[in-house]
Order: sequence, then C-alpha cells, then structure tokens
Amino acid sequence: MGTRRLSVAVVPARHRKFRHPGTSMYRMRLFAVRHARAYEWFYKRFESSIVALDPLLRRIGYGRIEKPVAVAEKLVKGLLFDCQMCGQCVLSSTGMSCPMNCPKNLRNGPCGGVRADGNCEVKPWMRCVWVEAWDGAARMRTGLDRIVVEQPPVDRSLEGSSSWLRVAREIAEVRRQVTAATDPGKLVIARVFRRARIIEPAAAPLAAEPKSALADQAVAEKTSVYEAGAPARVDPPSKGNPAA
Ligand code: SF4
Repeated sequence: MGTRRLSVAVVPARHRKFRHPGTSMYRMRLFAVRHARAYEWFYKRFESSIVALDPLLRRIGYGRIEKPVAVAEKLVKGLLFDCQMCGQCVLSSTGMSCPMNCPKNLRNGPCGGVRADGNCEVKPWMRCVWVEAWDGAARMRTGLDRIVVEQPPVDRSLEGSSSWLRVAREIAEVRRQVTAATDPGKLVIARVFRRARIIEPAAAPLAAEPKSALADQAVAEKTSVYEAGAPARVDPPSKGNPAA
C-alpha cells in the first residue's frame, strides 16, 4: 500500500497518463518488445483471420461493430502494449513498442534527447520508446525492413477507432481491386490493347468495362475476336436463327 502511494507521488501530474516503470503496464510494454518475434507471428495470423472475416463484417456493417470492437481492442492492446488507441496502429513497424507512449508522440524515430543510458529525456525513469522499438524490430523477421519506412503524421480524427477493422477493410479492399483487375471485363481491354499495355501501360489501363460491353462479352468471345491471330469463328446458320 505504501509503495503504491509512493509511485503516484513521484510521477508529476502531467505525466500520470504515462506508465511508471513500477507498473505492470510498463512491464508489459517491455515484455512485448522482448517477445516481438512471437507477437509478430501471432499478429500475422490474427490479421489474416480478420481479413477473411471481411465478407461477414461487411454484411453486418463495419459502422455497427466499430464501437464494440474498439472497446475490445482497447482492452486487449492496452494490456499487451499499453496501447493509446491512436487508430492507426504501427506496432508491427515499431518493434511492438507503441510510439504513442513517447511523450512527444514521435512516429519516425527518436528526438535528439535520448539519454546516454537509453532513457527518455522527458521521463528519465522510462526507456526511450524508440530505443525499445529498434530492439524489438531487430528481433522480428521483418522488423528492420519496416521500421525504416516513413510513417505519416498521426491523424487525430482517428483516435479511439479500431485499427483492426481499418486494416481488415483496407486489405480486403485492395484484394478486391486486384481481383477486379483480372475480371473478364477488364481482361478484354488488356487483350485488345495488348501492345499499348506493353509500351505504355498508362495509355490502356485496366479500367472498368462498361456494363454493355460485359453483356456482349460472351458473344464476342464466341467469335474469338479478342484472341490475337485466331480466326473469327462464325456459328453455322440454323432455321431457328434468322439473323445467321
Ligand atoms: S527520448 Fe525517446 S521517448 Fe523520450 S521524447 Fe525523445 S523520442 Fe520520445
């Protein structure tokens, strides 16, 4: 009881939202960095799972589940990483060390004030978040590749929202676009403008095909006009087909 009172007394009021080294939350932060490789392994699988759930989540409505998922995320990530719910999680790019725990909220490396012992200049009792981040990144498979990628400034309007849902939505959207780019309609353009696409791809992009063209596609492919060099195939006339 006495120890608890002491730890509150030594932390200046303006820093109380940040964890003192004596707290279990701070220890969990360090634990996450020490075990960044295992967390990375788990995170990848977890990410695949929520992306796989995208059709279901879209059916339910992302907006509807945003609040309960954000509450669950805050609970879980708060316990594991002392997450501050910035809404744009970059843990996998920062060695599992949450950059929002840096008093200056720096997202692209440390300030110039890291102490000689690796502690923070603002809070001398705390390891610099970025010293921890490099430590964690070095333990991960892809950590050192990711940590050097420049992060955009924090978008404060996303604070409190679920990063899990955002990631699921964005990855699923990208995959849908890739699938759409190879759908039959768009392939028609790719085939017709084959040469243009080789010389100057931007001149014949895989743009969306108009619906009317898609409707005619089955007929068009029957005559093989879209296959370069292949002779057009014409169906033999029949009694029931006066146009033939
Ligand atoms: S020393 Fe590290 S944790 Fe402290 S303010 Fe600078 S970058 Fe942030």
